[in-house]
Amino acid sequence: MNFHVMTLFPDMIMSAASGSILGRAQKSGLINVNAVNIRDYTDERRRGRCDDYPYGGGAGMVMQAQPICDCCDAVRRMIDEEGRSGSSARVIYMTPQGRTFTQAMAAELSREEDLILLCGHYEGIDERALELIGTENVSIGDYVLTGGELPALVMIDCISRLIPGVLGGDESALIETFHDNLLEYPQYTRPEVYKGLHVPEILLSGHHENVEKWRRERSIERTLRYRPDLIGSAVLNKKEMRFLEELKRQLQEETDASGEADISGSKEGFKA
Ligand code: SAM
Repeated sequence: MNFHVMTLFPDMIMSAASGSILGRAQKSGLINVNAVNIRDYTDERRRGRCDDYPYGGGAGMVMQAQPICDCCDAVRRMIDEEGRSGSSARVIYMTPQGRTFTQAMAAELSREEDLILLCGHYEGIDERALELIGTENVSIGDYVLTGGELPALVMIDCISRLIPGVLGGDESALIETFHDNLLEYPQYTRPEVYKGLHVPEILLSGHHENVEKWRRERSIERTLRYRPDLIGSAVLNKKEMRFLEELKRQLQEETDASGEADISGSKEGFKA
């Protein structure tokens, strides 16, 4: 998979993508991260300046269309020169106004050969560049950052770990949070007892089937408590459905007893 990141701050991308698992994946040729500096495509007169004041007034600066469109054309040509199709590469504009990035989206994008990620800055990008390029708009969440570099890195990281070979055992990318629309079960490692807290005994039993059942049940329980918005679309078998119904009944009883209004279990109390 080849990631082409159009940015004003290529060092941010290259340094973050050179360490840890992404760095290893690049060395072994499973992914390639290529940051392209939009400033290199400004015309002579502007000498590396790619922003200007917004028409109609208002705060901040806006990134101009010309360097971005020329940069995108150059990236597409480079993909062609490498023997793939530059014109069919999808261009994703990182923006808080886009569709929220999800694990399902990452799985879909991990099947692409080339992805062009466009990072905005300041107040954003001249709308005509987005229209001319035909970007798909993606947000990493309902908050506003100073630039698209961190969102692009979030996408690169998440997509890369779904590419076969990037993680040691490919199974670790399959059975984890959001698999079957459930949160992952709690994890433990050595020692068996830490500050008086014991690892659940079932995990030491060596009984694979019971361990699996315990993990699924803990996943269901966690999802119901912390992400009740997901539980309705969780993929469960009949036994697990019955377990969920029983769990809901118990939680409701607990809630009634404590006088709280709902069973969302948002124990840290982040309220929208
Ligand atoms: N004025 C823009 C608006 O209100 O939609 C926000 C611009 S933001 C300060 C600058 C750049 O950061 C955006 O062009 C985008 O590339 C990036 N960005 C900020 N928040 C983001 C988010 N949640 N997801 C993806 N990109 C984001």
